[in-house]
Amino acid sequence: MTDLDTFRSETREWLEANCPPEMREPMRSEVDACWGGRNWTFSSEAQRLWLERMVERGWTVPHWPKEYGGAGLSPPEAKVLKEEMARIGARNPLYSFGISMLGPALLKFGSEEQKKRFLPEIARGEIRWCQGYSEPGAGSDLAGLQTKAEDKVDHWLVNGQKVWTSYADKADWIFCLVRTSTESKQGGISFLLFDMATPGVSTRPILLISGNSPFCETFFDDVKVPKDQVVGDVNRGWDVAKYLLGHEREMIAGMLGGAGGTLGAALKPDDPFLRAEIAAFDVDALAFAAMSERFFEMFKAGEAHPASPSMMKYAGTELNKRRHELIMAAGGSDALEWDSERSKNGKAPRDWLRTKANSIEGGTSEIQLNIVAKHILGLRGA
Ligand SMILES: Cc1cc2nc3c(=O)[nH]c(=O)nc-3n(C[C@H](O)[C@H](O)[C@H](O)COP(=O)(O)OP(=O)(O)OC[C@H]3O[C@@H](n4cnc5c(N)ncnc54)[C@H](O)[C@@H]3O)c2cc1C
Repeated sequence: MTDLDTFRSETREWLEANCPPEMREPMRSEVDACWGGRNWTFSSEAQRLWLERMVERGWTVPHWPKEYGGAGLSPPEAKVLKEEMARIGARNPLYSFGISMLGPALLKFGSEEQKKRFLPEIARGEIRWCQGYSEPGAGSDLAGLQTKAEDKVDHWLVNGQKVWTSYADKADWIFCLVRTSTESKQGGISFLLFDMATPGVSTRPILLISGNSPFCETFFDDVKVPKDQVVGDVNRGWDVAKYLLGHEREMIAGMLGGAGGTLGAALKPDDPFLRAEIAAFDVDALAFAAMSERFFEMFKAGEAHPASPSMMKYAGTELNKRRHELIMAAGGSDALEWDSERSKNGKAPRDWLRTKANSIEGGTSEIQLNIVAKHILGLRGA
């Protein structure tokens, strides 16, 4: 028996003993996803217990070092944990932009004080983070951002506006791109962390076509931020921002592309053309799974390509959009039900409409293709 086999059997045993049965059921609604944070209300005792137990074991961030709240697992061990959780249908104990986006950036660019201060809180789900990148005039052209942080010697003074800030009204802290110099477009950006409860921060929710309101306009009006809350060097925040975006794109691809596997077993419409489309989708879903596996192995071997997050993001989100188009097509007119109990409050159409944003959030599909064109095809003008 190899060490990895032993790890697998111990993990299986621990999960069997500690994952509450309710946390092995598929999620039924948004409240089933635990986001943590200062104001989080657990939807059940099982949800609270599951988070607490996973935190104690360092398994909300299994591959992070132990001193920052992780379990120090090697990539193969982390993969085994993921497989064993999937085997029993265990829910993710904690959804967190802190884990999937800020944490990796802090591990690479943060000072030791910042790592010790922020990473364990993220691992325990105590602080909920939001991402302050996009602005009304700076989405795809992110480096055009105008939110300003002035150096007031003993603090930064932040003024400006962000937009599409997911869950800004629910977040405790923000990781925010600010302009600290106008001398160079990308060279004048800094990566700043601050508390959303600081005087001068306000949010206004934006309504989506799905009927939900998961993001906001976020305003900063003379917000005072302590000097030691810049990550990396002042005016070098673009490096941090890009590194974080790579992780965001991998997270989106992983969550969406891999979600739900193939469709053929669940959808069996009479229409032969639709059945053929479902079969073609299933082939692509399996190819995506194989591609993810390959990129994971390349990453482990230190051979990850700089464009791989963009390839994954593009393929994963386009696949997810196709998945929901097919679910709607196979459901016929019944699938359009919006409010009934039978339709689980319109789950299918709301999920379908939500996918329209997949190829925008985290950078649009066109921008991912530009990155692939530049880094793989060598088209320098892209
Ligand atoms: C669900 C969702 C959640 C989001 N959450 C956040 C968040 O938490 N924090 C945050 O900061 N932002 C967030 N965003 C914003 C997101 O990052 C931007 O919407 C995205 O980067 C696109 O920017 P934009 O909306 O300004 O569109 P634009 O940049 O104005 O693009 C408009 C269109 O032009 C195309 N285009 C633009 N430039 C080029 C080019 N050079 N080549 C080819 N085509 C181009 C785009 O592909 C797009 O089709 C979120 C967006 C969505 C939809």
